[in-house]
Amino acid sequence: MDRSARLMERAVRRLPGGVNSPVRAFRSVGGDPLFMERGEGSTIFDVDGNSYVDYVMSYGPLVLGHAHPDVIEAIERTARKGTTFGAPTGMEVELAELVCEAVPSIEMVRMTNSGTEATMSAIRVARGYTGRERILKFDGNYHGHGDALLVSAGSGVATLGLPDSPGVTKGAAKDTAVLPYNDLEAVRELFGREGEEFAAVILEPVAGNMGCVPPAEGYLEGLRELTQEHGIVLIFDEVMSGFRVARGGAQERYGVVPDMTCLGKIIGGGLPVGAYGGRREIMEKVAPSGPVYQAGTLSGNPLAMAAGLATLKTALLPETQERLEDLGARWQSGMEAVASQGDVAYSVNRVGSMVSLFFTEGPVTDFASAARSDTGAFKDFFWHMLSRGVYLAPSQYEAGFISAAHSDEDLDKTFEAAGEWFAGRKG
Ligand SMILES: *Cc1c(COP(=O)(O)O)cnc(C)c1O
Repeated sequence: MDRSARLMERAVRRLPGGVNSPVRAFRSVGGDPLFMERGEGSTIFDVDGNSYVDYVMSYGPLVLGHAHPDVIEAIERTARKGTTFGAPTGMEVELAELVCEAVPSIEMVRMTNSGTEATMSAIRVARGYTGRERILKFDGNYHGHGDALLVSAGSGVATLGLPDSPGVTKGAAKDTAVLPYNDLEAVRELFGREGEEFAAVILEPVAGNMGCVPPAEGYLEGLRELTQEHGIVLIFDEVMSGFRVARGGAQERYGVVPDMTCLGKIIGGGLPVGAYGGRREIMEKVAPSGPVYQAGTLSGNPLAMAAGLATLKTALLPETQERLEDLGARWQSGMEAVASQGDVAYSVNRVGSMVSLFFTEGPVTDFASAARSDTGAFKDFFWHMLSRGVYLAPSQYEAGFISAAHSDEDLDKTFEAAGEWFAGRKG
């Protein structure tokens, strides 16, 4: 019996499902998860000594790859000086300034410890600011596991078949309206009737938690207009897309400016960080400058700030952004080339270095079309790729992430392995 299997045997006795976050358990592909030992660049090594080209990249944060020397050095240097003070440090100011410079719609920002905290807090601030209670989210968009947002929430939840989690009270969910993604007419109709009741619209401007689904042409612009018309705070959840689909995130890529933005993942460079920010007038409602309470013992933690700063320093360089775009484009054309050789329905979606291969004819534009994917085919494909040294997220509904550390050889290895699978599926 291998080490991963032995660890899983122990893990399930003490950790629910053997893991600390559900998708890691491999439930939707069957079998046991691999336990990891270390990572370097684009590659991860499991506890049994196998190595894999990694397209999970910790679900987004590792835009520069695993164990980037600058990031590790920054963490080590910082750790020697103490890990937390409960008092402000210079690095928090530096990271805040860097974020505001890269994402100009963010005039003020608050650091948190996770993306979940960022979205929960942004909703609270939007409610405090508008004095309204209802919020609108979209089917298949995931904004962390806060009660009010854990409704029709994509990947993990979709995979487990828990449309609404037990434990989320009717009260917590009743002010959350849900509409299909990319359907502007539905929003116009809802707001035409009840727009003045809504505090906020929150969305992934590039959806990544039902697989990668880009915004339809005019969709973000339309939401911007409708929210403005009805005095509603528009919140872009860029926890995944921030600093990845462009230097300034999806709002830069598509040229649409939200009122508030949530960040996470890349901003922490692999340590636990989230952030929310936006227009000064709104952010000044946050305590202690305003009445909306939100806090955190470890928020702005020195190690996390150091890792975030070191990561952003390189991630925000134009050449890094170009590299991510180039690698993404190569991945798309390479996968389309091998997939078109088989007799399997497929559809490739990509925005920058966020990618998805759906096993459905497509186009995949929302949760309903994503859910038409043949998850049996995905499962088979997943295990084949793993056996060839390519580590994909163990769910059809997770986006794949390419890092700046991925090489042409990594991509070629991926296409070759995928090509074998599609060829085996012919006729
Ligand atoms: C990952 C993610 C979150 C939640 O972030 P956590 O750090 O896991 O709490 C929220 N929104 C989006 C879009 C995400 O991808």
